[in-house]
Amino acid sequence: MLVSAKEMLTKAKAGKYAVGQFNINNLEWTKAILLTAQECNSPVILGVSEGAAKYMCGFNTVAGMVNGMLKTLNITVPVALHLDHGSYDAALQAMEDGFSSVMFDGSHYGIEENIEKTKEIIRIANEKGISVEAEVGAIGGEEDGVIGGGEVADPDECKMIADLGVTMLAAGIGNIHGVYPENWQGLNFEVLAKIQEKTGTMPLVLHGGTGIPAEMVKKAITLGVSKVNVNTECQLAFAAATRKYIEDGKDQQGKGFDPRKLLAPGVEAIKETVKEKMELFGSVGKA
Ligand SMILES: [Zn+2]
Repeated sequence: MLVSAKEMLTKAKAGKYAVGQFNINNLEWTKAILLTAQECNSPVILGVSEGAAKYMCGFNTVAGMVNGMLKTLNITVPVALHLDHGSYDAALQAMEDGFSSVMFDGSHYGIEENIEKTKEIIRIANEKGISVEAEVGAIGGEEDGVIGGGEVADPDECKMIADLGVTMLAAGIGNIHGVYPENWQGLNFEVLAKIQEKTGTMPLVLHGGTGIPAEMVKKAITLGVSKVNVNTECQLAFAAATRKYIEDGKDQQGKGFDPRKLLAPGVEAIKETVKEKMELFGSVGKA
């Protein structure tokens, strides 16, 4: 059964480790992540962007697929199905359609409108036992077609949003979605420490986990980050493994063209990436 992200993140914050959010794109992705979480005895959050949900035929279809897998694959570790960077309308729809967690990304609104809309989402989420992630300070890079400027969040604004009763808070600290540019300045730990100081036990979320050096991720976890989002890294691993399969001519040997064979190396590559991340975040054995 799907669970909200609240309990797993409260435990992670107290235990000074982080739970990975791995974004899914299709059945192979979902299966690979769930099996790895079970093997690692780790809690896990499946992230679904609005674009990915549309691609997979809507929240309803995604919830149906994930619930089916939890049952058929005997997944017993805590799993949350989470809307990633949702608009207001998408958050309402995802909650209606069986998601156990939603992110309402109001970072492009002014702080007052962000607060009003976040409050309404929280009210509905609380009735259903769904966890809510809010964002302060747009995170740089590309969020499903939306380009952000790489802002650093204002710790006071973070406190205002945290006090509304959100479950977890994403704050821009120089992190970027997608591949990091060579001249990237690194995470702003000073701001992270200030945000942590102001928001206390609130689990903080690090977006754009791909390409942040492992040592920086670890340090961020010691400073209060309890959820790290990983998306691009699984995509790169999947693409590289699939490319190798085809370049090696394996699709032209025997029944190598069978999609279940063709996609298998990519699935293995995702599993490996997810396992590495769970080890780095410290969530292995924490289910
Ligand atoms: Zn993000």
